[in-house]
Amino acid sequence: MHDLIIRNGRVIDPESGHDGTADVAVSGGRIAAVGAGLDGAARVIDAAGLIVAPGFIDLHAHGQSLPADRMQAFDGVTTSLELELGVLPVARWYDEQAHAGRLLNYGASTGWVFARIAAMTAQQTESSVEGMGRAMRDSRWVDAVATAAETADITQRVRAGLEQGGIGIGFPNAYAPGTGVKEISELCSLAADHGVPTYTHIAYMSNIDPQSSVEAYTRLIGFAGSTGAHMHICHFNSTSLQDVERAAELVGSAQRQGLKVTVEAYPYGTGSTVAGAVFFTDPAFPERTGTDYQAVEMLRTGRRFTGRDDLLAAQQDDPGALVLWHFLDVEVNQRHRDLLDVSVLYPGGAIASDAVPWTVDGVTYNGDAWPLPDAAVSHPRSSGTFTRFLRQWVRERQAVPLIEGLAKCTLIPARILEASTPQMRRKGRIQPGCDADLVVFDFSTLTDKAEFKAMNRPAEGMRHVLVHGNAVITDGLLDLHAWPGRPIRRAVG
Ligand SMILES: [Zn+2]
Repeated sequence: MHDLIIRNGRVIDPESGHDGTADVAVSGGRIAAVGAGLDGAARVIDAAGLIVAPGFIDLHAHGQSLPADRMQAFDGVTTSLELELGVLPVARWYDEQAHAGRLLNYGASTGWVFARIAAMTAQQTESSVEGMGRAMRDSRWVDAVATAAETADITQRVRAGLEQGGIGIGFPNAYAPGTGVKEISELCSLAADHGVPTYTHIAYMSNIDPQSSVEAYTRLIGFAGSTGAHMHICHFNSTSLQDVERAAELVGSAQRQGLKVTVEAYPYGTGSTVAGAVFFTDPAFPERTGTDYQAVEMLRTGRRFTGRDDLLAAQQDDPGALVLWHFLDVEVNQRHRDLLDVSVLYPGGAIASDAVPWTVDGVTYNGDAWPLPDAAVSHPRSSGTFTRFLRQWVRERQAVPLIEGLAKCTLIPARILEASTPQMRRKGRIQPGCDADLVVFDFSTLTDKAEFKAMNRPAEGMRHVLVHGNAVITDGLLDLHAWPGRPIRRAVG
């Protein structure tokens, strides 16, 4: 007797290449069987006319919370990981998630940036985007090369996070571009010794030298080659700006030489960050990025900056305030759309949301109101990354076959992690023994709904979403009392 049979769906497993009508039986949170005419279950889902696929795995989700999980569930996400920033202390974070209960599977890397803030300033910082932004008030950790004693302290804190089960090291280098290469190379060696990836927001974002994006990617590739570390590149789309074609050549060349370099991208031409980010401060920001200050917008008010002084004033006032940065104009500019394609369609690259926290009136929102309050804002990518990719790139433009598009949301992110985090070998696939993290959706109507003027609209088309065999969404409706999310974590000790 199985717990559940999903009957007659179009079952797509990107690893085996299976794409055809089948039943999927679920028992004890795992996939028990895939085949024709399966029988004997307490519950049956009729999936005729629907696609049955592995749940989506998001390598890059900030602001992990109940409202964030709920919005991501409608986007098909069953595993949501905070890898770029990471957290510290790691054990405490996992304890807090377990205590609160989570809708989706969750996990985090060890947060280098928080180790640096603690070691180089006296600030107590919570592990969040906003916490990092607020810590910019004392910017020694942003600008300075660490002393030998500070480097030892930073390394010790990061190592402790790995020993507490953190799934790699988060390296948001652009927020601390003053960091010395010796410090980073030591931490990459630490990652290599532990066999875990690093997740990097490259040090510089600029189309012109010195300190160009190309320089930063070349340096990252150097760390992979010189230390043996697996260097994962976060949001390849945003950090490459208009040099993504050259960046893709360099990364491809490194990969062909056998270096462990992987990439992810989100399908938008607009980024999100904190007002205090030091890359806005550069007097040459417009020339370096190809955008002006009006391309940067306060999330809370929708107000665009009028110039550098305006932006510097906002940095003084509240460096942790969230902003949007429209770095490519994909609505009207075909050339910019082509640039976005290079990162989103990069062969072997994952789709990852870079979801950002939900806020109401500038304050982080973690409440349980559903639907989300009208005033809740974030970024459309927090609600619609995967459904937008599948709608626009896979269904409407047919830029990539469906099974390959699904691989970018499932198998590819699982494979990026599975060498270091064995749990991921059972995710991103529909095969007997794998975790029953599953999505059942209507491909003909699947769509993101979130826009910059209405970010809190859930995506549409997900009929059923299961986490470890437990229903999170049933017949398109959210279960408000489901907490089946489990930790993704490496062995402790
Ligand atoms: Zn980033």
